[in-house]
Amino acid sequence: MITFEDVSKQYPDGTVAVSGLNFVAPSGKLTVLVGPSGCGKTTTMRMINRLVDPTGGRVLVGDQDTQTTDRVALRRRIGYVIQGAGLFPHRTALDNVAAFPRLLGASKKAARESAMELLTRVGLTERHARRYPWQLSGGQQQRVGVARALATDPPFLLMDEPFSAVDPIVRNQLQDEFLRLQQELSKTIVMVTHDIDEALKLGDYVAVMREGGHLAQFATPEELLTRPADQFVADFIGNGRGYRSLQFHRWAHVIDTEWEEPVPVGGIPGRDDSVVVDVGGKPLGWVRSSGGAGTAVGVADIDVSGTVARESSSLRELFDAALSSPTGRALIAGDDGRYKGTVRLAAVSAAMETLKAPVA
Ligand code: ADP
Ligand code: MG
Repeated sequence: MITFEDVSKQYPDGTVAVSGLNFVAPSGKLTVLVGPSGCGKTTTMRMINRLVDPTGGRVLVGDQDTQTTDRVALRRRIGYVIQGAGLFPHRTALDNVAAFPRLLGASKKAARESAMELLTRVGLTERHARRYPWQLSGGQQQRVGVARALATDPPFLLMDEPFSAVDPIVRNQLQDEFLRLQQELSKTIVMVTHDIDEALKLGDYVAVMREGGHLAQFATPEELLTRPADQFVADFIGNGRGYRSLQFHRWAHVIDTEWEEPVPVGGIPGRDDSVVVDVGGKPLGWVRSSGGAGTAVGVADIDVSGTVARESSSLRELFDAALSSPTGRALIAGDDGRYKGTVRLAAVSAAMETLKAPVA
């Protein structure tokens, strides 16, 4: 774990960046520091690996006070990923990842072999490994940055806005992949972001900070959404809190999926708003009522406006599928992507209502 005990930082010019910060980032968990620009997130993070020294209080990494730990020894245990990846421009992706293990005495062959393994884990191929940073997209560079931080297998990982410089679609992908990776690795991670949605999605715990480096709230994402500590936190999280808190509830054991016979493309639908599936059994959408029963379904007859909810997904995904569906019935797929049935909007709303029932 990483512990902040009454930590403050005043820069030489008098700026108080952090004041009286107390929290614990637990072992094996991902703790996100989030807050508006200039509130002291980066300063807080840099006090962990001593790129910045506190002017008050103590930071402990494990049970060691960082101020009495040798900087080099400390940093060896802490991987560091920054926005824009910060790669060595004159080295290939592979050698960027192999660089630190080499410095620590690994042979060139061993360092490169494990570097390639890591690059594969973050979704890159040998072709990417041979390229220089400028020959890679922003998202690919960020993957290399993550692989490089993991190369010495440090128990701690610091990430400062690691996904901010890439476009939203790539960012989402990187976030999902990173969550999967962390499930395997269970590193003790502190991540900085200014994006509350990223914080709520990735964090096991979220520290919301306000101007001057004050901690406004330290909580799980669910607690933040359902019980913001004050108006500042509530405003920072923004609207849609009720809807967004649905993401913390699975629905599979609460709501039954109803079976409706689907129609394959080219088939004759049994009703005028049948579910349409592809040859692999994946749900595509709904027969447009204008097509009508009795005529074969062409691709142009499929209404694709509804989203699809997976059985393993949250109430939020199910609610969205029901709301967006032209029929008011959510399309359900298994984790293999195949059609499993439908759920009526009324059933979703009944389940949501029980969430609001007083706890006995
Ligand atoms: P954040 O990462 O949340 O945007 P920072 O930790 O970078 O915030 O900065 C917090 C405050 O400290 C800001 O007011 C910033 O201008 C100030 N600051 C950051 N670095 C320095 C520095 N080296 N010298 C003086 N002030 C600094
Ligand atoms: Mg910052």
